[in-house]
Amino acid sequence: MLNETKELLKEYYNLDDETFNLSEEVIEDISDKFEEIKQIREYNQYKVLKAMQEVRLSDNHFNWTTGYGYNDLGREKIEEIYSKVFGSEDALVRPIIVNGTHALTLCVQGLVRPGDEILSVTGRPYDTLEGVIGIREQKGSLKEFGVTYDEVDFLEDGNVDLEGIKKKINERTKLVMIQRSKGYSWRKSLTIEDIKEAIETVKSVNKDIIVMVDNCYGEFLDTKEPTDVGADVMAGSLIKNPGGGLALTGGYIAGRRDLIELISYRLTSPGIGKECGLTFGTSRTVLQGFFMAPYVVSQAVMGAIFCARAFEKLGYEVLPKYDDVRSDIIQVVRLNNADEVINFCQGVQAAAPVDSYVKPEPWAMPGYESEVIMAAGAFIQGSSIELSADAPIRPPYNVYFQGGLTFDHSKMGTLKAIEHMKKGKK
Ligand SMILES: *Cc1c(COP(=O)(O)O)cnc(C)c1O
Repeated sequence: MLNETKELLKEYYNLDDETFNLSEEVIEDISDKFEEIKQIREYNQYKVLKAMQEVRLSDNHFNWTTGYGYNDLGREKIEEIYSKVFGSEDALVRPIIVNGTHALTLCVQGLVRPGDEILSVTGRPYDTLEGVIGIREQKGSLKEFGVTYDEVDFLEDGNVDLEGIKKKINERTKLVMIQRSKGYSWRKSLTIEDIKEAIETVKSVNKDIIVMVDNCYGEFLDTKEPTDVGADVMAGSLIKNPGGGLALTGGYIAGRRDLIELISYRLTSPGIGKECGLTFGTSRTVLQGFFMAPYVVSQAVMGAIFCARAFEKLGYEVLPKYDDVRSDIIQVVRLNNADEVINFCQGVQAAAPVDSYVKPEPWAMPGYESEVIMAAGAFIQGSSIELSADAPIRPPYNVYFQGGLTFDHSKMGTLKAIEHMKKGKK
C-alpha cells in the first residue's frame, strides 16, 4: 500500500491503527481466494465478449425506436447476447420488467394454468413472491386463479431434500421453483452442482415438469448458470449482478424458446409477445453493464470475502465463511444486538459515494414484521450490486452485506462498519 493511501485512510477516513492492521492481516489471509475469483471472472469476461462479437454488435444497436418498438435492433441483440451467455434458447431482457420480482412473476404467471400446482424445493420462496403465489393472502395472487402451492424444506444439513422432492411431486405439479441465493435467510446458497442435482431429481420423476430458477444475485459466480445444467427457465434483476452497475432498471428471463414465448404473452399480450416493447434508450447501458458484469461481480465477491474474514477475526459468526464456496454475492454477519446492527449499517452508509452524510435509521417498512435498517448510497436507486447493507432489527441480528462496484470501495464499507461499531461501544 502506498504511504499516501495510509495517510488518507488515517487522516480523512479516521481508521485507527487497530482497524488498519486488521485490514492488512485480512488481505493476507484471503489472497488465495482472490485467485479463484479472478479465474472465474476471466472465463466469464471472455464468454460475454465472444457473444457480443458473434452477434456482430455495432454502435447502431444503441439507437432506439418509438411507439410500438417494432424492430428495435438493440433490444434484439441484447436478448440474443443474454441467450448465448446463459446457454439458453431465448431470452427477454427489458426495461419494462420493473424488478426481479416482476421477472419471476411473469415466469410463473406465464407458465401455470388453473388447477396446476407450484412446488418450491428450496423452502419458502423470496418474500415478495409469497404474495404472487398466494402463500400470503394477496389480491391478484395465483391462488385466486386456482393454482395451488407446496414446498419442500431444506434438510438439517442445509442441503436440498431430494427424497422429499420425489414425495411431493404429484400429477398436478406443473412448475418447480428453485431459489439459488440464500436471499435474506441463514442458509447456504445452492451451487450450480446442487441445482443440477435437484433438476435431475425432478426430471427423473416427470421430465415434463418445468423447472424455474430464481437466479437473483447468482449470475457470474460460476462459469455455468442454471440454464447450462438443465433449468428450463431462470430470471433475475438488472440492478443486481448482470446489470454491472450500469443498467438503469430492468429484469431478464432466459430459457427454452417455447416457455419464453408463453412468458412473453404475459409481458405484453397473447399474439404480440416479444415483438413490441420500447427500450427508451437503455440498450447501451444494458450492454455495457453486461460487458462489465463479470468484473463487477468479482469485485463484489472479493468484498464479501474481505467482510467475512474481517468479522471472523473479530469473533463473529458469518455465512458463508471466508473460504467457503460462494454462489451469490451476499455476506451475512451475525451481530450481537440492535446497536451493533445500526452502527454497522451507518458505517456502510458513511462509506458511500452518494448520501454518505446521511444516517440511516430503522423504520417500519410495509410488509415486514419488524423494523428494518438499510444502508444504500447508490448511483441507481435500490441497486444491490452497488455496496449496500440491510437488516431487520430482531434476533438473531443478522446483517446482509452485498455489492460493491469496486473491491476497494467494498473494503472501505467493511472498515467503516467496524469503526462505527467500535465508536458505538464507547
Ligand atoms: C432480489 C431478489 C429477488 C427480487 O427482488 P426485487 O427487489 O424485486 O428485484 C428475488 N429473489 C431473490 C433471491 C432476490 O435476491
